[in-house]
Amino acid sequence: MIFNAAQLLRERPGATRSYDLEPEFPVHRGHVELLRVPKGVLVTADIDVILEAECARCLVAFGYPATLHIEEVFYQQVDVDTGARIESGAQPGDFLIGLDHTIDITEAVRQYSLMAAAMQPLCRPDCPGLCPECGQDLSMSDCGCDRTQSDPRWSALAALKQRLDG
Ligand SMILES: [Zn+2]
Ligand SMILES: [Zn+2]
Repeated sequence: MIFNAAQLLRERPGATRSYDLEPEFPVHRGHVELLRVPKGVLVTADIDVILEAECARCLVAFGYPATLHIEEVFYQQVDVDTGARIESGAQPGDFLIGLDHTIDITEAVRQYSLMAAAMQPLCRPDCPGLCPECGQDLSMSDCGCDRTQSDPRWSALAALKQRLDG
């Protein structure tokens, strides 16, 4: 996911390039627009990726699709023709155009993937998870444990119900 921007950097602000991404894990497909701006290049991209996750209930590893919308300025560090240092005002953590005038969006894709990752990913919406008694993966088969008794919230409810009934 590296683009040579040497030619674009010789052009005026407003000049553009666009690219389609080749599938390369975790990227499924994507479209990238480069726009020359005074301080470097504004990268706008829509990228379909496969995010890897571990199910919050049954702990199985699985992948699920997500679309990243990336919008980042990559700051120019050196003049293309003279190699002279350019004071672009980039802050630590900002994305930089390489000294060889290439734009590498790999790190941006990684950061946006982290932001897009679900907090409580489930392998499927109705994943039954693991048995709290024996650890059996309940989507494979039921283990036969009496799980209603093991949960203190349930026994408290059962006790309350007994009192009300009694
Ligand atoms: Zn699961
Ligand atoms: Zn069990």
